Amino acid sequence: MAEKFVLATHNPGKLREMGDILRGLGVEVVSPADVGCHVEVEETGATFAENAMLKAKAVCAASGLPAIADDSGLCVDALGGAPGVYSARYGGEGLDDAGRYRLLLSNLRGQPTRAAHFACAIACAFPNGDTLTAEGRCDGAIAYAPMGEGGFGYDPVFLVPDKAKTFGQLTAEEKSSISHRGRALQAFAAKLETYLGK
Ligand code: IMP
Repeated sequence: MAEKFVLATHNPGKLREMGDILRGLGVEVVSPADVGCHVEVEETGATFAENAMLKAKAVCAASGLPAIADDSGLCVDALGGAPGVYSARYGGEGLDDAGRYRLLLSNLRGQPTRAAHFACAIACAFPNGDTLTAEGRCDGAIAYAPMGEGGFGYDPVFLVPDKAKTFGQLTAEEKSSISHRGRALQAFAAKLETYLGK
C-alpha cells in the first residue's frame, strides 16, 4: 500500500504536481484537510528553507504523518534580494499579483541591473524526527513590461534569457522543466527515493 505523505498546501495545483512526481515512489500525497489537520503556520523564517521546514514540522506534528512543505519567491539583485520571502506580501495587503509586479517594475526604474532569480525550498519532516531538504533555482531578469498570460504571481515580468520569453509566455510544461519549483521537486524526489530505499 502507498505510504501517505501530507503536503502542507491548500493549492490543488501543487498537490497534483507533487502527487504525479511521487506516485512512482509508492507515495500518496494528501492535503492537510484530507487527514483532518487544520494548522495555520506563520512563515516567520528568514529563508525559504526555514519557512518550508517550519511548515513541514508543524504539519507532521499535527497529523502524525510524514509532511512535505515548500516555500518560494522572487529575489531581485538590485533590490538586495527583495521581495524574497515576502514575495506574496510585497507592497502589503490590498495588492493583487498585477499590483505586486507593477510595484516591482516601478521600484526597478533606473536600476543598473535587472538580474533576478526564483528560488524554491522543499522540506520533509518524518514522525521519527528525520528531515529531508531540497532546493531549486531559476536565473533570469525582470522585463521592462509584463508579457504573457500564463502562470501566476510574477510570471509575466520574469524573463528567461535562454528562451527570450517570460514565464508567463511559457506553457506549464515548458515552465516546470526549468523553473525553481520543477528543479526543487526533481531534487526532492531523488532524495526521497534514496531515503525510502534505505
Ligand atoms: P509560495 O511559496 O507558493 O507561497 O509562493 C510565494 C510567492 O512567491 C507567490 O505568491 C508568488 O508571488 C511568488 N512566486 C513563487 N513561485 C512563483 C512562480 O513560479 N511564478 C510567479 N511567482 C511565484
